[in-house]
Amino acid sequence: MIAINDMEHKSEVRIGFSEFSNNLYENTKNKILKELNATKKDWNDPKWQLKNRISSVEEISKYIKLTDEEYDNIKKVGEKYRFAITPYYFSLIDFDNPNCPIRLQSIPDVRELDESGELDPMKEEQSNPSGRITRRYPNKLIINVTNACPMYCRHCQRRRLIGNFDKNTSKEDIDTSIKFIRNHETIREVLITGGDALLLSNDRLEAIFNKLSKIPHVEVIRIGTRTLSTLPFRIDDELACLLRKYRVQVSTQFNHACEITPEAVRAIDILVDHGILVRNQMVLLHNVNDDKYCIQKTNEELHKYRVITYYLFHPKDVKSTKHFQVDISKGLEIMKHLEGRTSGMCKPTYVYNAPGGLGKVPLVPMENIECGEDGYKLTTWENKKITKGFE
Ligand SMILES: *Cc1c(COP(=O)(O)O)cnc(C)c1O
Ligand code: SF4
Repeated sequence: MIAINDMEHKSEVRIGFSEFSNNLYENTKNKILKELNATKKDWNDPKWQLKNRISSVEEISKYIKLTDEEYDNIKKVGEKYRFAITPYYFSLIDFDNPNCPIRLQSIPDVRELDESGELDPMKEEQSNPSGRITRRYPNKLIINVTNACPMYCRHCQRRRLIGNFDKNTSKEDIDTSIKFIRNHETIREVLITGGDALLLSNDRLEAIFNKLSKIPHVEVIRIGTRTLSTLPFRIDDELACLLRKYRVQVSTQFNHACEITPEAVRAIDILVDHGILVRNQMVLLHNVNDDKYCIQKTNEELHKYRVITYYLFHPKDVKSTKHFQVDISKGLEIMKHLEGRTSGMCKPTYVYNAPGGLGKVPLVPMENIECGEDGYKLTTWENKKITKGFE
């Protein structure tokens, strides 16, 4: 009855729960623990993970063989755009695969030296009315609370903010931002992000949540964090209780099914078991996930572990990330593929962040609807045309 059967390719996508992924992880993890003379208990400690981030080519070359060219390139690019990889994330790399999605997202690449593109195409700097706020919409805005992240994604679209050293936003700037929100009654939702919001201590987070929760027109607080994929050990019961107390919702970023590991799912479970809503904002990235089966499988893994599929971001033309660019037609093809082939829960909204800070624009395949003289003509997911019984 079902005409289209092309699902077998889906099983070729690497997932975080496979024996293959687990072996990679355990092997590199044990090598790192031995090299640093550390214990399994250290490994699960987020502070240990942050302190022992891999941030030089000398460290990388302790664990994997690099050619002279690779060594020089990582060094050269790293001097221009710093890198830091948690031992956890580094241990998911498959070094036999030059297009390993974990490697592409974390290790400097010579293509980053391409000078085309802009540093701030969304003109976030120009949408800053006060403090550390970015505001483009009437009733929601962002406060950037830090420029630090556990791992510096090579595709980061906020590269200009990542700078060369980690810096949390000062208490004064946060207070100025909160004051702006207090004085603007249209703001109903506040996004606390960075960098990675969960690099702030629980005490600092609570101080912010507490002040925001006292503003009557602020109905929702949301945090942006990639720790679920880069530093899952940051998530524990204490943090989940804090988020629950202020009904904080979480936006995260998983870009590939191989990032959804048993460790990541342990973190997801803690949040979801405490009633925290977790949504995924995936970035479409060339060679990482620009494949319809990969996007399908990744969203199905998220669905399975109770993470809500939210956005698929079209990559912007940010300087030094050109090698991740994808054509919009590719994204639309992926969206069309998802229709009917998977659960509705696994379909993101595909969006383009308009240049100049004009906001997000949804990108929707249009072939399935046609407006003619005698009404609409629809095309189903199996390419069946509906012309009758529908005006
Ligand atoms: C994306 C974004 C938001 C949040 O938008 P949602 O569509 O609600 O997730 C808010 N402010 C700015 C500046 C944004 O870019
Ligand atoms: S976690 Fe987000 S802000 Fe941080 S480097 Fe990655 S994409 Fe950029």
